[in-house]
Amino acid sequence: MTIMPKPSQNIPDRGIYERRESVVRSYSRAMPRQFNRAEHVWIHDDQGGRYLDFLAGCSTLNYGHNHPVLKQALLDYISADGITHGLDLHTDAKASFLEALETVILKPRGLDYRAMFTGPTGTNAVEAAIKLARKVTGRELVIAFTNGFHGMTLGALACTGNAAKRGGAGVPLSHVSHEPYDGYYGPDVDTADLLEQRLADPSSGLDAPAAIIVETVQGEGGLNAASPQWLRRIAAIAKRHGALLIVDDIQAGCGRTGGFFSFEEMGFTPDIVTLAKSLSGMGLPFALTLFRPELDQWSPGEHNGTFRGNNHAFVTADAALRHFWGDEGFIADVKRRGDLLAARLERLAADLGLSTRGRGMMRGIDVGSGEAAEAITSACFAQGLIIETSGAHDEIVKVLAPLVISDDELAAGLDILERCTRDVLAAAYDVAAE
Ligand SMILES: *Cc1c(COP(=O)(O)O)cnc(C)c1O
Repeated sequence: MTIMPKPSQNIPDRGIYERRESVVRSYSRAMPRQFNRAEHVWIHDDQGGRYLDFLAGCSTLNYGHNHPVLKQALLDYISADGITHGLDLHTDAKASFLEALETVILKPRGLDYRAMFTGPTGTNAVEAAIKLARKVTGRELVIAFTNGFHGMTLGALACTGNAAKRGGAGVPLSHVSHEPYDGYYGPDVDTADLLEQRLADPSSGLDAPAAIIVETVQGEGGLNAASPQWLRRIAAIAKRHGALLIVDDIQAGCGRTGGFFSFEEMGFTPDIVTLAKSLSGMGLPFALTLFRPELDQWSPGEHNGTFRGNNHAFVTADAALRHFWGDEGFIADVKRRGDLLAARLERLAADLGLSTRGRGMMRGIDVGSGEAAEAITSACFAQGLIIETSGAHDEIVKVLAPLVISDDELAAGLDILERCTRDVLAAAYDVAAE
């Protein structure tokens, strides 16, 4: 298969972006093309270039671009004049989605959650989660972790570690304490012990928290994967100290780490779970906050929003849950492909003296510096592979290929990644040796 993009000729005037789009844009700087079509694991630009997508909307496109089953469900719904916007009114689309959530996801996993439709983006689900935890416990402090990423609105941003993102707030980000994540001080320090000690000590200065919010694999913060033992400890600590455990599954959920939820089969059950990104399955904005029924202490309308429950996203999410998550073959395939990915990355890392990170289909390779990672991702883009970085110094090249990718397509993308990684690191070595 050839996946080299064609060299761009006759590039049309792109001045409109310079003139009218805010400089806050970011991904478009690393990938300065105009994209006009996408299907499955491929995106096309208007110059005839074709790119294999190992970014997948930062894990928003786990089922690929425009999956035919999801697309057809949405086309049928629109053609029949289904409700597009209905505030939080009951609609056919909402009922069917909730039934799918109950029968395909929650019941088979023995989970009993109420679903709260928040505003449509991930940060909205996080805001609702921490607001509910504060309301239910009557406490203010939230414990988040080093390198955690939870969104850009003030409450979620306060829980986010990244200084550059935090700096945009313009006001103090308070009522959150960032404690060391699993492995933060290396393999010999158990950071769950540290947290337990601080919470148990009435003179530690750490107040009793309303919630502990955690990603099981840190998507933006470097693909650090917490161990099941550490997560169980954190769940137990939350319980012992009267705090609610929030698992932010916005990036690691929806199959990215193997199961529908990233904490499945780990021996603990979060009090609150946030989902967004791949929840709609087709890239439509849709977020959900799930919580134990006893925590459902809102008064009607106490937390609302105009775009709560995007009916088009209900339709595609419903189709995605029934089509993929009712299918044992899909689930087994994702696990198997995650193992293939791990084996390839580990082999490359071992060869080059590097290390890998992550779990399932959410893995990356630590190439030592943000400069090297950027050189590698640019080289990949020039060869027709879209791939991005993660981590405190953007030093991790991360593979977020759609879960539905074929083994051949996965291998083709990894071939490009391997070639570019070897070339960039060899060139850096040559420069250093001169
Ligand atoms: C992307 C992300 C968010 C924020 O979601 P948005 O839709 O960008 O607001 C929150 N938490 C995690 C773990 C994420 O990856």
